[in-house]
This record gives sequence, structure tokens and C-alpha cells, in this order.
Amino acid sequence: PTTVERIAAGEVVERPASVVKELVENSLDADASRVRVAVESGGTESIRVSDDGIGMDEQSLRRAVEKHTTSKIRNIDDLEGGLATLGFRGEALHAIGAVSRLTITSRPQGGDRGTELLVEGGDVERVRPAGCPEGTTIEVEDLFYNVPARRKYLSQDATEFAHVNSVVTAYALANPDIAFELEHDGRETFATTGQGGLRETVMDVYGREVAQAMIELDDEAVPEGPLESVSGLVSHPETNRASREYLSTYVNGRYVTADAVREAVMEAYETQLASDRYPFAVLFVEIDPSDVDVNVHPRKMDIRFADDERVREQITVAVADALKREGL
Ligand code: ADP
Ligand code: MG
Repeated sequence: PTTVERIAAGEVVERPASVVKELVENSLDADASRVRVAVESGGTESIRVSDDGIGMDEQSLRRAVEKHTTSKIRNIDDLEGGLATLGFRGEALHAIGAVSRLTITSRPQGGDRGTELLVEGGDVERVRPAGCPEGTTIEVEDLFYNVPARRKYLSQDATEFAHVNSVVTAYALANPDIAFELEHDGRETFATTGQGGLRETVMDVYGREVAQAMIELDDEAVPEGPLESVSGLVSHPETNRASREYLSTYVNGRYVTADAVREAVMEAYETQLASDRYPFAVLFVEIDPSDVDVNVHPRKMDIRFADDERVREQITVAVADALKREGL
């Protein structure tokens, strides 16, 4: 790939977790009811995402890895709102293919054969028939093998995997009707049934103890402000753990990270928390897209709000109210 292409790829692909995010979003867009994610060495060696979605025939498969090709029709609001839903630009697969060895195997629903396509460093190296189930499997090996400067900046496997885990967890929690599975170096991290509601899914991901103790947020307790509604579950302080990776935030249904939200949650727990422990929280908020900072790249998970301060206050109050109701 040219330098320009590598920079473009960097907009989409920062680390294994960003690849996982794009591939999982594609599986959801493809109406999958089952999504399996398996990574090796934190995703630095390989990332495999398989789904039972609509699949692709040979022609769609060839198109999927071309530049700026998308099969998804989006309206202009998606582009202007700063918070588009899932895929809309047709650049993810192309970008991933430019900086890895990418193999896609796919068979359309009801189709009688599958196709395998291999891209290496941006070039389509091979397309051939393949025996495979309906749906799509995408394997990304040796991420950044041809961009040493980026490969060098990847963290240790455990850290990269923690990011992957956060992403898959967030999508699993937001989609209780889809069965998710996550595997690292051949060992299952979690699996959800795809049959439950939010609390059942939290149980599949975080375990029974955490799930049963979680407290529901009450939208009625939230003061007026930019957030139109706040809902979800937060952990009982007794089940908190020593890690930072247990916060899943959704703005208008889209998984994001936001410092304002993280800080607000921590503030509400402040008096309850031992210094090395972190809460679990699953937060769904609704907001007018124009109250989200428009300078944020639509591909990035990290967002800011136009009025961070008031958003922070709304969330702190919501979480503090939940803890208070438990007598904390
Ligand atoms: P976008 O999602 O923005 O359209 P991508 O580069 O992520 O762009 O994907 C390109 C195209 O490849 C999609 O529009 C879709 O047609 C096809 N595609 C990608 N992943 C899958 C999948 N898991 N199942 C079916 N089709 C897929
Ligand atoms: Mg996509």
C-alpha cells in the first residue's frame, strides 16, 4: 500500500480491538444471530470473527475489499450527526486488508457454494471456491506486519486482549438476542446464550455474583440536562474488581467510550470504593446528536459531549441514586 493508504488505514485500524470492532459491526449489519470471536496473542497474531449472517457470493466478496465500497445505504443524517450507526463508508475491510494478511470465507444464505478470498498487504492474492457453512468468517493475521512502526507500538498481549475483551463484551451486552463467544489462545473467555435480557447477558459475561447484585438505574432520578434519558445497570460495590475494563457505555445505541462518563461513574462510587477496585456498569444514554462534539471522527469510539459538565452531573446523580436505594 502507498503511504496515503497506510495513513487512511490508521484512521480505522489502531490496534487489534479496532479490527474486532469493525468485524463484529459487519456481522451485526449482516443480521447474524451468532458471532464468534477468537484471537491469538491478544489479536496481534490472529483475529477470527465468524458469523451466520447473510454471507457474500464471489462478486460481493471481491467488492467488499475494494476501496470505498459499501453495500449499505445510509442517509445523509448518518454522516452529519457525528454518530453514525455501524458501517457506512465501506473503508474498514479495505483498510484492514492493507495492513495484514486477510482471509475471508463466505457463503450466502441459501447459496450452494462458498468462496475464499485472500488479501495480503492490500493485494488480492487469491480467490477460490471453498467449502464453508452459510455466513462469513474473516481472519486477520499478522496485523501491521508491513507497517513496522505501528507493530512496534502494540502493547503486550494481555493489554491488547483486554481491549478486545471490552469491545466484544460491549457488543454482547447491547445485543442480548445474539449469541456471542470470545476465545483467547484457544480458551473461552465468555459465551452468551443470545436468549436472555440484559441481566442474563451480564451473567453470561461477568458471572452470577456480579449480575445478581447489579442495581438498575432510575431515569426519574436524573436531573434535566443534555441527556434525554439514562438507563442500565451498575454494580454493587461489594462485587467490584481490580480492573478498569468493566464500563460499557452506549450513546443512542452506539458503543462509545467517553471520559466524562467514566469520571462521572467513578465519582458516584467514590466513597464506596477501595482505591484499587472498579465498578461494573452498563449505561444506555439518549442525546440529541447535535449535543455530541462534532469534531470527533465517526470511526473513533472515543467521544466528547458539547456540555461535558452537565452530562457528567446527570450520570453521577443517576448512579448515586442507585447506590442510595441499596442503602449505600
Ligand atoms: P461498511 O461496513 O462500511 O459497508 P466494510 O469495509 O466494513 O464497509 O465492509 C464492506 C462490505 O463488505 C459491506 O458493505 C458488506 O457488504 C460486506 N461485508 C463485510 N463483512 C460482512 C459480513 N460479515 N457478512 C456479510 N457481508 C459483509
Ligand atoms: Mg463495516
